[in-house]
This record gives sequence, structure tokens and C-alpha cells, in this order.
Amino acid sequence: MAIIIDGKKTSKEIKDELKNQVEQLREKNIEVCLCVIQVGADPASTVYVNNKKKACEYIGIKSLSYELPEDTSQEQLIELINKLNNQKEVHGILVQLPLPKHIDEDRIIQTISPDKDVDGFHPQSVGRLSIGQKGFISCTPAGIVQLLKRYNIAMEGKECVIVGRSNIVGKPMAMLMLRENSTVTVCHSRTKNLSEITSRADILIVAIGKPKFITHEYVKEGAVVIDVGMHRNEDNKLCGDVDYDDVIEKVSAITPVPGGVGPMTIAMLMNNCLESARA
Ligand code: NAP
Repeated sequence: MAIIIDGKKTSKEIKDELKNQVEQLREKNIEVCLCVIQVGADPASTVYVNNKKKACEYIGIKSLSYELPEDTSQEQLIELINKLNNQKEVHGILVQLPLPKHIDEDRIIQTISPDKDVDGFHPQSVGRLSIGQKGFISCTPAGIVQLLKRYNIAMEGKECVIVGRSNIVGKPMAMLMLRENSTVTVCHSRTKNLSEITSRADILIVAIGKPKFITHEYVKEGAVVIDVGMHRNEDNKLCGDVDYDDVIEKVSAITPVPGGVGPMTIAMLMNNCLESARA
């Protein structure tokens, strides 16, 4: 029987641990503070932003929210970020992506001070991760490592195959699994014989953005499968990049969608805010 890796439960455990740590900081007169900036009113972004605010409220982190109109200029957004960069009482700055087309996302990510880059997207954070220095780590990959650790799934010496090479999931995931001493292979849309490579994986991490793409032919008997994908199917139900029902008999452990990787992302964001406040 496969172990179902419960991200909802694990994320709650982490949030409860963080709640205690926030309290301890408050006793030292430090109030942890996250600023969340949203430009425009994309409904999916609004859901993500609200979930982040709810998590802050649960843990006791102060959240300041900036809901800016769709036609906010790049200069106005940069001005706001610079103002927040200079406010000592602000520990984390998060700009919800995607941004409207007239704003250069890379430019905005680089404007956030690396000391407040709780999303871990700044080139300095990415660079630190790749050379093994301490810094903010992109929340989704960090959450996946936490899940593996808390379920006592060994990473050292294991064959880990990651499908997807995005800057926010695939690439930082590869760096983190290297840090955990896995042997790492990264696949992408130009990879030849994908199923041959994925079938070697002891740990298969999938972040491609294609509903139910990974079926049993891609999975080794007894593999651990981590599904990062998040989609709504034709019945408006959430599903992942992995065809859960098709692989469940073959895997030793798997993250469901919903309730797997998703909730961990927010827990790790909260953790980054605390680390920033401690620093
Ligand atoms: P992305 O930026 O679109 O990147 C997708 C990656 O998958 C690319 O590297 C692409 O290769 C690769 N790919 C696409 N089709 C492929 C195929 N047929 N075979 C092999 N590789 C293929 O996506 P992302 O931002 O990493 O997100 C991936 C999924 O995770 C999405 O469903 C997203 O909603 C979800 N997500 C969930 C969370 C969470 O918290 N649960 C967080 C982030 C993302 P190329 O580079 O060659 O184009």
C-alpha cells in the first residue's frame, strides 16, 4: 500500500511550530511583518494572496497588503518596493506573479532587497542556493524537501529525476536535491525518451504543467512520486501533472493533488518570513 504524503497535515504542523517561534520573537519586541503586493485583480492571484494573508493571521505574522490597480506603472511599483526595502519593520516583500504585461517581472524581482526576498526568486538568492550558501530558498522546492524529510524518505544516494526546469520549481529543486546528496537528472520538453529516464527514478518530482501527463509507464515500481502540478479538470476538480489513479498501485509513496505540495509552499513562505525577522 502506498504512503499518501499528507501536505495539509505537515503544513499545519510546521505552521504550529512557527506560531510558537513568532510568539517568542514578540516577547523580544519583534513583530514579524510580510508585505504582499498584488497588481490587478487576476482571480487566481487573489486566491493565492488571500491564502497567504490567512496563513499570516494564523501564525501571528503581521501582513500588510497593497492591492494596486492593473494600470500601475513599473516606476510606481519600483518606488513602492524601494520604500518597503528601507522600512526596518518590514521583514518580507512578496510581489504576486504574474504581473501585467507592461511590467518587467525580472526587473521587479531584482528590485526587492535580497534580505527581504522571502519568495527566494532574487538572482542573489538563486546564486547562494547554487553555491551552497545560506539564503532564501524558493518555497515550493523547500516544501518538497521538508515533506520528504518529515516522512523519513531517504534522499542521499537516491536517483532523483525532476521533470521541468522552471526558475521557481525545477531548477531550485535540482539544487536542493543535490544538497541532500541525491543523484539528480533534470528533464524538460526537449528530453528524448522521457519515460526511460523517469523510470530510473527512486524519487520522481514532476512540475510540467500538463494535467495527468505522468502515467504508470513513466514510473519505476516502488518509486516516490512528488506531484507539483495544479490544474482544474473538466469537472472543475483539482488534479496534478501525475495520473494519480494510474500510478497508485506502482508507487511506494505519493503526494495527492490537492493536499500534497500546495499547502507546503505557503508554510515555507511563512518560515522564510521568520528567518528574515531573526536575521
Ligand atoms: P513552467 O514554468 O511552465 O515550466 C514547465 C516545465 O515543464 C518547463 O521546464 C518545460 O520544459 C517542462 N515541460 C513542459 N512540457 C513537457 C513535456 N511534455 N515533457 C517534459 N517536460 C515538459 O511551470 P512551473 O511554474 O514550474 O509549474 C509547473 C506546474 O506546477 C504547474 O501546473 C503549476 O501550476 C504548478 N505549481 C504548483 C505550485 C504549488 O505550490 N503547488 C507552485 C508552482 C507551480 P521547457 O523548459 O523545455 O519548456
